[in-house]
Amino acid sequence: MIGASGRSISKLITNAGTSLADLIYPRRCAICSTAIDGCVRDVCKGCRRRLDLLIAQPACWCCGHSIGPFGLDENGRCLNCRHTKAALDGLARAGPYVDEISTLVRVFKYGGRDELDLMCADAMVGALELAPWWDRIEALVCVPTHWRHSVTRPFYAPRALTKNLSRRTGIPMATVLRRVVGGPHQMDLPRSQRAANIKGKFAMAGGASVTGASLCMVDDVSTTGATLNECAKVLKAAGAAVVFGVVLGKVNTAFEGKRS
Ligand SMILES: [Zn+2]
Ligand SMILES: [Zn+2]
Repeated sequence: MIGASGRSISKLITNAGTSLADLIYPRRCAICSTAIDGCVRDVCKGCRRRLDLLIAQPACWCCGHSIGPFGLDENGRCLNCRHTKAALDGLARAGPYVDEISTLVRVFKYGGRDELDLMCADAMVGALELAPWWDRIEALVCVPTHWRHSVTRPFYAPRALTKNLSRRTGIPMATVLRRVVGGPHQMDLPRSQRAANIKGKFAMAGGASVTGASLCMVDDVSTTGATLNECAKVLKAAGAAVVFGVVLGKVNTAFEGKRS
């Protein structure tokens, strides 16, 4: 057993090691790359403050869009979704996909900073717990990737987020969907082609049953909503009662004109 003095010496050595490592390789903010204090885990205080302001922006609980000047109608729908019918019953997002949030998502997905999964999942849990449909969720379902993609790129951001969300909320994960066809990534296509590109690319996993279930899809970013809607269609065709979604960043398509 290590005594009190032993613990102090061991703590001293650990602290000295950390300080030395920080001195030689200072930790960098995941968003703006400035050197940060060793006790600040992932992002600098300035970026954290700006992230919190983005996360605090109110969004529509149906489509995840930031609420514009016209607010919500009597059915709780914003200008972006009040005239559309989607298979997805609601979408919660940590923040709009702009500025610090878009950088955070890119660094998390492609920049080798997969330790950001805790911070990203925390922001998503915050959004999810405020959703009016939060207490109806029975299981979390990750938007699946094609097996070939898993072989070439073992880190898959939506899976890491789903695992952390499940750990944080206690809501179980359900592997009920699979991606049956690969093909071009949605982000590489103009928005007008995304719904057609994703159609028919998901199917129920063998033996999966979702009859009467209330599910919540998990993805990193939603642009047009085509991927989440396609997943919701497949799950509802298999008997799911309701399908919601949660993402880290939601692109405000209605505010961005026809840009693809
Ligand atoms: Zn920063
Ligand atoms: Zn809306």
